[in-house]
Amino acid sequence: MNLSPKSQSYIELEKKYGAHNYSPLPVVLAKGQGARVWDVDGKEYLDFLSAYSAVNQGHCHPKIVKALMDQAQKLALTSRAFYNDQLGGFEKWICELLGFERMIPMNSGAEGVETALKLARKWGYEVKKVAKDQAKIIVVQDNFHGRTIGIISASTEAASKDNFGPLLPGYVTIPYNDLPALKTALQDPNVVAFLVEPIQGEAGVIVPQEGYLKSAAQMCREARVLFMADEVQTGLARTGKMLACDHEGVKPDVLILGKALSGGMLPISAVLTSSEVMLTIKPGEHGSTFGGNPVACAVARAALEVIQEEKLAERAEKLGQKFRAEISSWNHPLITTVRGKGLLNAIVVKPHGKNAKGEPRTAYDICHDFLDQGLLAKQTHVHAIRFAPPLVITEAELDRGLAAIKKVLDASSK
Ligand code: PLP
Repeated sequence: MNLSPKSQSYIELEKKYGAHNYSPLPVVLAKGQGARVWDVDGKEYLDFLSAYSAVNQGHCHPKIVKALMDQAQKLALTSRAFYNDQLGGFEKWICELLGFERMIPMNSGAEGVETALKLARKWGYEVKKVAKDQAKIIVVQDNFHGRTIGIISASTEAASKDNFGPLLPGYVTIPYNDLPALKTALQDPNVVAFLVEPIQGEAGVIVPQEGYLKSAAQMCREARVLFMADEVQTGLARTGKMLACDHEGVKPDVLILGKALSGGMLPISAVLTSSEVMLTIKPGEHGSTFGGNPVACAVARAALEVIQEEKLAERAEKLGQKFRAEISSWNHPLITTVRGKGLLNAIVVKPHGKNAKGEPRTAYDICHDFLDQGLLAKQTHVHAIRFAPPLVITEAELDRGLAAIKKVLDASSK
């Protein structure tokens, strides 16, 4: 794709003055509405990434924008040194909506996960009575829970960890989707929690076998270990249910939400759990200046109401089935796998042909070609491409996206 001088100038600024911790596709976005975004030259694209599932409700949803503007004009931030008139009502509302006793508000997904890890340890020492500093948390291979030191210490990916040490102890790693390995790990009496993504998003949309979550939750209960679901990416209608755990009727002991909790408007995350777990943390032991601020509470409530009012879980289920069925029906020679749930899907593509550098073309090259067809999607690892459009996408837009995907794959296989 030929970049305009205008796009080029924005990219150069980031290259010159920014950290080089991402390698974005060369498109500079300036506007969004629903499932569509526009670049600085006015070219339209369908967004099939949704900011990694943060924009489930669609870009700039008018109800969420209004909630943001209304509250920002009244009161934006008090810190938790004082009460505000938004937080309590929102806590009650979200606890009743999702069936938990208590909620703690944070900002980024990583902070939500950190909070869950701290809660698990605190509960382990004060309720389960694990000996001082001996608590362990089970995690799985290829997990992705964020970027803090505490979280990358649980990562199995070299790029996330290398030269960021010393890392934190206290994790036991087992393979994903492996109940016998979980059973063995749970035998250690110092284990306080099992932290897991119901579908592994960053690992390439890896869907475990049916019944995995249910059995894992049951095994944790029997071992008196907290089952902690990281639904930062899978939660809030993305997979065709309000929570991905709902597909198996599982209620986690600790639930972590982020991303779509704000419809992409602000960083808002939350951890929901029981009084037994939550109240182990006392005043002064954990917190966040911005967590639970009035704007965040108003925005999150509006974002959740949009999911309910527009029946986004049902939409994700219906459109997701159509999406996978259509792609599978192509029997495309470049696609080895189509997988996913709801509107969180991925295809795995074979290496094919040569790119401009003379290397075998991979998922990255295909995503690059999508730009010419007005489609935004991103590879995860070398061969998988994730497709996660906003759940408000219309059927006609989905069809357009599918046509663009097919066109690029057909051209790539020639
Ligand atoms: N947990 C999961 C499952 C995620 O997919 C992500 C981000 O992609 C995070 C946590 C971290 O969220 P954030 O980037 O908001 O810190």
